[in-house]
Amino acid sequence: MDIAAILREVHESVGQSADRGAVATYIPELADIDPGLFAMSVVLADGSQHSVGDAAMPFSIQSISKVFALALALGRLGDRLWFRVGREPSGLAFNSILQLEHEKGIPRNPFINAGAIVVTDAVLSHHAPREYLGELLRFIRTAAGDDDIHINRAVARSETESGHRNFALAHFIRAYGNLVNPPDLTLGAYFHQCAVEMSCDQLARAGRFLMGAPGMPRLVSPGRVRRINALMLTCGHYDGSGDFAFRVGLPGKSGVGGGILVIAPGRASIAVWSPGLNAQGNSKLGTEAVELLARRAGWSVFG
Ligand code: GLN
Repeated sequence: MDIAAILREVHESVGQSADRGAVATYIPELADIDPGLFAMSVVLADGSQHSVGDAAMPFSIQSISKVFALALALGRLGDRLWFRVGREPSGLAFNSILQLEHEKGIPRNPFINAGAIVVTDAVLSHHAPREYLGELLRFIRTAAGDDDIHINRAVARSETESGHRNFALAHFIRAYGNLVNPPDLTLGAYFHQCAVEMSCDQLARAGRFLMGAPGMPRLVSPGRVRRINALMLTCGHYDGSGDFAFRVGLPGKSGVGGGILVIAPGRASIAVWSPGLNAQGNSKLGTEAVELLARRAGWSVFG
């Protein structure tokens, strides 16, 4: 398979797309990004890496950080984490508060905001935010094999000033006794976690530990890799998860910065970035690009 040729074809195809989606504006610091930017990078099971577009340009990984936070939390708490957060798709927007009251402050899954806030709170309960963020960065840098990965403090500040929905979620969860730390402390850590910046080159390498292929970094056990991938497939795109599974057929986790990390188990780790989002808050062209790549490469978890 000529992956470089496939990537060139994908790049050309998305370049012709007139509708690039809408950039997220609810985090003011992210609102000015150029929607014309596009990048894609693929690491194959033989360790080779292939990229197109602006693949060395760092972008805000936002909710993709929830994958790394979950891996850390499972390492720290093991299956005890599942007393505090569920494993079901929510069918609702990433920042929805609707189910929380019915389900008594236990968020549906670790990838919606409510669930990710609980995951961060769970890892934090033994650490100061600074220590947790240091550990998270160490995890991501080790996974990527690259120390040049940082938190953009202006983005974290911007979200701290404007993230009223997340404050509402955290306080609501705390009222049900499912938040151990003061909401400000947990959210401070959560906003900084979301403000990690990575390029597609770095993100594709950071996803290698989820490939389950020999020779790739082994940061969590094979059983956990399967479970993280299962959650990415069922919940990684919020109320767009079913459509992503239908179109792409691979586990993926999106972020409102326009990035998506996609895993073809045993075969590839894929990062794509296009800042314009669809109605569910997932990268519009990123989804189209990875759909085309998966089809051309013949990658799917469904046979
Ligand atoms: N930091 C963002 C938020 O909490 C992350 C959301 C996302 O990427 N979907 O709203």
